Amino acid sequence: MSLSHGKKVLAIPGPTTVPDEVLQAMHRPAVDIYQGELVAVTEQILADLGAVFRTQSAQPFIYIANGHGAWEAALSNTLSRGDKVLVLESGRFAIGWGETASELGCVVEILPAGAHGAVDPQAVAARLAADKAHAIKAVLVVQIDTATSVWNDIAAIGAAIAQTGHPALYMVDGIASIGCVPFEMEAWGVDLALTGSQKGLMTPPGLSYVLAGPRAVEAHGRADLKTRYWDWGFRQGPLHYHKYCGTPPVQMLFAAQRALHLLLREEGLEAAWARHAALAQATRAAVQHWAGAAEAPPISFAIPDAAHRADTVTTLRVEAPQNAEALRAFCAQTCGVTLGVGLGDARGNSFRIAHMGHINAHGLLGILGSVELGMRYLGWACPSGGVEAAIGALAQILDGPQMTPSAHKG
Ligand SMILES: *Cc1c(COP(=O)(O)O)cnc(C)c1O
Repeated sequence: MSLSHGKKVLAIPGPTTVPDEVLQAMHRPAVDIYQGELVAVTEQILADLGAVFRTQSAQPFIYIANGHGAWEAALSNTLSRGDKVLVLESGRFAIGWGETASELGCVVEILPAGAHGAVDPQAVAARLAADKAHAIKAVLVVQIDTATSVWNDIAAIGAAIAQTGHPALYMVDGIASIGCVPFEMEAWGVDLALTGSQKGLMTPPGLSYVLAGPRAVEAHGRADLKTRYWDWGFRQGPLHYHKYCGTPPVQMLFAAQRALHLLLREEGLEAAWARHAALAQATRAAVQHWAGAAEAPPISFAIPDAAHRADTVTTLRVEAPQNAEALRAFCAQTCGVTLGVGLGDARGNSFRIAHMGHINAHGLLGILGSVELGMRYLGWACPSGGVEAAIGALAQILDGPQMTPSAHKG
């Protein structure tokens, strides 16, 4: 029997649910791409990106591309063939960005994650201090790794880099975090930051945003990897058309404008951070409950250290003989909820619950309830009551003192 007929829910960490208002904003004919309304839309999006990334000094660029495109834009505008790049590993995504750098002709060195799965800021400082010749030209890190659901402390890594006085550019991938958790491009000394439209920013996939701080813009003058499509120089030409290096993605821009309006002016950025923090805490309360009681729990957090668990996605390890894919299939086919797959080697033995973007309390509780139903149906030895634990966590947050998102870890 299926109970899935009704509104389907996507609980994968990207693409995420697009608000109806955003879909409606796209549903209109194209307009003049040289003057008028669309030029104002571009200007509004560019200004809003500064507010989302928390910077006044960075130059924003919009690409018709997904996150992989933003990676290439960041590297090709700032680096040259043979430049050394230090990749701070913490799961799958920084490694992917590093592979892009190596394919572009950079020399990639990987600094392994610390024991807790997150980047260790002191290890970054030690590596840069040892690079007396300043061979390393850029440091690449991901704020939240969407595979492992680890949350790196971008402020602390920035401070560690600054403390060495090393001139390497500090570049951050915030694709699974910007708009959802605190990110302070300017205050944290980030030289370049990027994100995609389709995760925290509640827009269909297809746009990405790169913000270049003054040192990244300066590096652009020396870089020899530039090509026409990605090049910031061409994109600063006088015509609106130049900003997109060709035809602007008209309907996508109306969508992005509406989504940024929802985030910045209807909800407020800090309120969105607090909502993500609360829903993540509820998710963790449920998982803690499911994993807590049994001696050999069928499921556990992929990130053992609570301080490094992300507020946008939670990755769960699943012990054999339980199979994560069976749970995902049950949730999709019987409940209408699609959970995230385990990435890489972790496919059968992990799954991911996204709590990112356009999601509220009732959405999250429905997802957690479906997971609990699935575990019970499949006979996993997890105690019921995880949803009750999530409700308890939310009740406590709602009763408690006003959350101060700026107190949350970067
Ligand atoms: C999703 C994601 C990417 C890749 O983005 P695409 O749009 O799939 O190319 C890169 N980094 C992080 C942290 C992500 O979550």
